[in-house]
Amino acid sequence: MTEIFVLVEHRQGKIREVTYELLGWGERWIGQQEGRLTALLLGYGVKELAEELSMRAPRVLVVEDERLKDFNSIYYQRVLSSLLSRYQPLLLLMGHTAYGMELAPSLSVELDLPLATDCIDLSFEGRQLKALRSIYGGKINAHVTLKESKTYMITLRPGIFPPKMPEEKKGTIVIEPSPIQETTERKRFLEYIEAPLTGEDISQAEILVSVGQGIGGPEHLPMFEELAKSLGGMISCSRPVVDRNWLPKERQVGISGKTVKPKIYIAVGISGAFQHVTAIKGSDTIIAINKDPRAPIFGVADYGIVDDFQNVIPLLKEKVKGMK
Ligand SMILES: Cc1cc2nc3c(=O)[nH]c(=O)nc-3n(C[C@H](O)[C@H](O)[C@H](O)COP(=O)(O)OP(=O)(O)OC[C@H]3O[C@@H](n4cnc5c(N)ncnc54)[C@H](O)[C@@H]3O)c2cc1C
Repeated sequence: MTEIFVLVEHRQGKIREVTYELLGWGERWIGQQEGRLTALLLGYGVKELAEELSMRAPRVLVVEDERLKDFNSIYYQRVLSSLLSRYQPLLLLMGHTAYGMELAPSLSVELDLPLATDCIDLSFEGRQLKALRSIYGGKINAHVTLKESKTYMITLRPGIFPPKMPEEKKGTIVIEPSPIQETTERKRFLEYIEAPLTGEDISQAEILVSVGQGIGGPEHLPMFEELAKSLGGMISCSRPVVDRNWLPKERQVGISGKTVKPKIYIAVGISGAFQHVTAIKGSDTIIAINKDPRAPIFGVADYGIVDDFQNVIPLLKEKVKGMK
């Protein structure tokens, strides 16, 4: 029987969304043939998480060990290596996240398993795995074929696949003994440090006026701050704006910033790189202002204005003033 393993990501008692996306992909693929989808939950005191997962996966395999309480790639690798050798699933899926990026390459070397990272699509031809990887910042899509193997390893890009939704019918929970024997000091979890919030929380905003590198410089920021204020919203931005110190990190939207879900997201001078767009997909309405009609942001926008922001923003401000 074909078996797909999905590594569950959890942090501070919460399962991360990418886990459900991987389960969603696994379920759709398994649906076409005889096979089994298994969520691998590594942790300590994770009974509640296992219950939660059982509503989204037909089987949850749990390994509990105090040393798995917080993510430590050495212990995770030890457990995964033991489970893969024992069960030999066709595929191990991980998120292309800090977890997957740290863990997957060394596990693949240890077990001599083919690995493709940061994949945006997968398909099998017989037992041969083909993956689609978006490379060079999304400019090229590369089709790769992995060397034939009993087991393949993949890290999938977050935010690409729809998540598996919970169901009434519960899957089975299987407890596996921990294979960890020695404790190591080579790598230790110390603590989680939340980025200090010095201002407003953009993830809670109902209206966001978001600026990108295309605004040209910080001298234009007051125009956007005024617009955000008059709309009762907040200002946010893309990563280059933070990298250039035009706005603080807490304003950054994207995979290395915050995920937002406002009623209205106005993206100005933002090209629409996937690292940005992934984090705005929950917005009700996206309005893009960009002078390049081919900017990818228009692919996700509900409304688009192709023009220089210097022409559009003053008009928009006038309009908003007129509505008050
Ligand atoms: C590991 C990793 C993590 C990342 N995380 C994030 C993240 O969390 N968030 C994020 O945003 N990015 C992130 N990035 C960067 C991301 O790949 C893009 O480089 C970035 O989003 C581009 O920012 P931008 O759209 O502001 O700039 P650009 O790509 O330079 O786009 C500027 C846009 O402005 C338009 N423009 C120029 N002048 C005007 C004008 N006068 N009027 C109107 N439009 C104009 C241009 O046509 C262009 O489309 C990450 C990258 C990596 C590798």
